[in-house]
Amino acid sequence: MTVPFKLYNTLTRSTEEFTTLHPNLVKMYTCGPTVYGDPHIGNYRTFIFEDVLVKVLRRFGYQVERVMNVTDVGHLVDDSDDGEDKMEVGARRDGITAWDVAKRYEERFLKDLDTLNLEVPEPLVRATDMIGEQIEMIRSLEEKGYTYSTSDGIYFDTSKLPYYGELARLDIAGLQQGARVVNDEKLNKTDFALWKFSIEPGKRHMEWESPWGTGFPGWHIECSAIIRATLGDSIDIHCGGADHIMVHHPNEMAQSETVTGKPLARFWCHSEFLLVDGGKMSKSLGNVYTIPEIIEKGYDPIALRLLSYSANYRSKLNFTFDGLQVAEQSLKKLRAVYQSAAEDQLTPEVLQLIGEFDAALAEDMNMPVAMAVVWNAVNGDLSKAEKRAFLANVDQVLQLRLDQNDQIQVPAEIAALLEKRQAARDARDFALSDQIRTEITQLGYTVLDTSEGQIVQR
Ligand code: AMP
Ligand code: ZN
Repeated sequence: MTVPFKLYNTLTRSTEEFTTLHPNLVKMYTCGPTVYGDPHIGNYRTFIFEDVLVKVLRRFGYQVERVMNVTDVGHLVDDSDDGEDKMEVGARRDGITAWDVAKRYEERFLKDLDTLNLEVPEPLVRATDMIGEQIEMIRSLEEKGYTYSTSDGIYFDTSKLPYYGELARLDIAGLQQGARVVNDEKLNKTDFALWKFSIEPGKRHMEWESPWGTGFPGWHIECSAIIRATLGDSIDIHCGGADHIMVHHPNEMAQSETVTGKPLARFWCHSEFLLVDGGKMSKSLGNVYTIPEIIEKGYDPIALRLLSYSANYRSKLNFTFDGLQVAEQSLKKLRAVYQSAAEDQLTPEVLQLIGEFDAALAEDMNMPVAMAVVWNAVNGDLSKAEKRAFLANVDQVLQLRLDQNDQIQVPAEIAALLEKRQAARDARDFALSDQIRTEITQLGYTVLDTSEGQIVQR
């Protein structure tokens, strides 16, 4: 039995009752990282959203088949098919081949997934492992008369598809009039590359033979081909960051639907962008933070999960280190509450709160409301065992590693002082307790006294 669930659909710009093509089964595709550099915290906002969506779907009774791609070829520096392949840029920067760049950053991505307690999508499919499928799809588009050739590649003629741009609500006529012509051989501004020719065959690290000559696939065709090969012609949910609404997803849709004659996805779901210090992340501002950098600065990376639950996934979220610190304090508090009881006690009061938590999830995954229920439960007058039972249950969605012992992560010197202070407090020697607190502060840590005992922070 599945639970009624409402989900916002970018395609219809409305929140709809969630239904599936096959009973109780969700086929879900999530556009993955371009592995030419370290993924940043913005990418992880989207990947956390997708991970939580999977957990919510399972909680509501669905089996989920989720596929993610790894873009390891063809994503050009400019989304309108100009400029260099990002992989080749990475190769020059790192002084290794594009193949080694892909390997290096895919490994870093997998490590980050583990760090953030994100489930590895199964399967995770590399674009370069499906070149044949992509060529097949382009051939099919060619046979149907949707392609044309220019001096640099094979393009999709978007004017042949009357509803092209529906997802993005594109004003095609207006776009054509105001077109800034970058690639003057393109017939329409919105046309996009399916296959790019190698300018000098043999020079690129990544290139393949095709019916149109040596080259490499355009960025969008990989997702269409991977979806078809792994999930079939039509899926239930297609996800990505909000930047995909304008170009990448309309193009995937155009290719797939032209080939299959069927709708590619029922629900198109997009998470809004993570901003840093109120603005866009950019290399020049030096605010494109990675997960290893968050760890290096001394933060618990799981706090990033909690931070992302503070806003609805469809609203922009502003990242600051102050915000991350607050999220980390909250995380420690939740862990301390969870660990303060040895056993779970599932009572009607707990079930009532779990019901409220689920009700918030059922409304288009309203995480801020769901988190308000969590704080009500944690700060309310349930017993410790009831609080533990509640947290254990909601953590199936939140994935906060509640078992992690934050106290033992402090240096031995601090741990000893904490123990001494606890003994002083137990003996009601508050002067000594305060003196030890000052000592701990001087060593760069702060102690909070809570009903669950001392919590130490950096
Ligand atoms: P990319 O590696 O650029 O292909 O992006 C991987 C995923 O991260 C895509 O779904 C993007 O839409 C998403 N993404 C990129 N930048 C951000 C950001 N600042 N906030 C949220 N999601 C993002
Ligand atoms: Zn995609």
